[in-house]
Amino acid sequence: MNENLIDLVGLLRSEVETLMGELGQPAYRGRQLFHWVQARRAQDVDAMTSLPRGLRAVLAECVRVSRPEIARVQRSLDGTRKYLFRLDDGEKIESVLIPDDGRLTACISTQAGCPLACRFCLTGLMGLRRNLGAAEIVGQILVLQDRLEQGERISNIVLMGMGEPLLNLPQVERAIRILSDEQGANFSPRRITLSTAGHVPGSQKLAASDLGVNLAVSLSATTDAVRDEIMPINRRWPIADLLAACRAYPLPNRRRLTFEYVMLNGVNDSPGDAKRLVGLLHGIQCKINLIPFNTAPDLPDRPSPRERVEAFQRILQDAGLTATIRESRGWDISAACGMLRVQKENA
Ligand code: SAH
Repeated sequence: MNENLIDLVGLLRSEVETLMGELGQPAYRGRQLFHWVQARRAQDVDAMTSLPRGLRAVLAECVRVSRPEIARVQRSLDGTRKYLFRLDDGEKIESVLIPDDGRLTACISTQAGCPLACRFCLTGLMGLRRNLGAAEIVGQILVLQDRLEQGERISNIVLMGMGEPLLNLPQVERAIRILSDEQGANFSPRRITLSTAGHVPGSQKLAASDLGVNLAVSLSATTDAVRDEIMPINRRWPIADLLAACRAYPLPNRRRLTFEYVMLNGVNDSPGDAKRLVGLLHGIQCKINLIPFNTAPDLPDRPSPRERVEAFQRILQDAGLTATIRESRGWDISAACGMLRVQKENA
């Protein structure tokens, strides 16, 4: 791979148009090129047959169309598929495709590893290796689309794979703009959800932007004492600050924030927690997603028994809140929430 070539996958449509302009081409050629890369998923310039041959020859000298390399694909008994990708520098990341009730959700990564070290999350054990570039974020979707089966279409994108998206906001924002461009893959921002562990300044930036994606917040505790223990980011931005940012998040009519809450036995799952949660979320347009904890030998916590999760849910529902229990998907291939972890290549 030639490092000097411009990777088209990470460019906004406007930038592709500018690039074409610099080559003496009209703007519509830029739009065509963007469409070839993002909508038709051409993998090299030669395949872009609506561009004149001479132009293709010029482009071949200065651009490339990257794809993260697939290192492994695993398929769960429940139909969930997990893709392990090897990036150009050998770092590895994972993406998960989750078929569910007519929907097909793509869960993608925004960082290789993660610096936040939540106690219940395997990715946290890796630490941060590095941020992903926009091309690497978009590239996950391109490859998943390349590999879809007959009749499948990705209906939703969730930024809930490895990493904290708000710690890589410039590249995440760029990727969202590329993926939601009508001339490209054309995913409406309403079908894209960004999940954060609670990075307050990042969520404020997101609120001030015009991106229009859904926001999910991983809360998972109702007191600072507990949240400090299980999610160290809380020591920097405690619950009150986080919820103040949530209250300020602009929501179009009928849209809601999502709060995720990982159920840890004896830690955050008591009836008292449920009642406190009702109080904390008062006045916020939201729904709550209770996530059964996915265990792993390296993680200290235990999952809450099902009855305890259901009792917790009932308290929320009785207070008029929408609370669902997220069914664990892809557990047999370690594709479920919090189970994405990869070792760096030795080479
Ligand atoms: N950093 C972002 C996105 C990645 S984590 C965030 O924290 O939201 C995606 C979701 O998986 C989060 O809601 C997180 O709380 C949850 N999660 C992490 N580890 C888990 C585990 N072992 N079992 C169940 N859910 C887990």
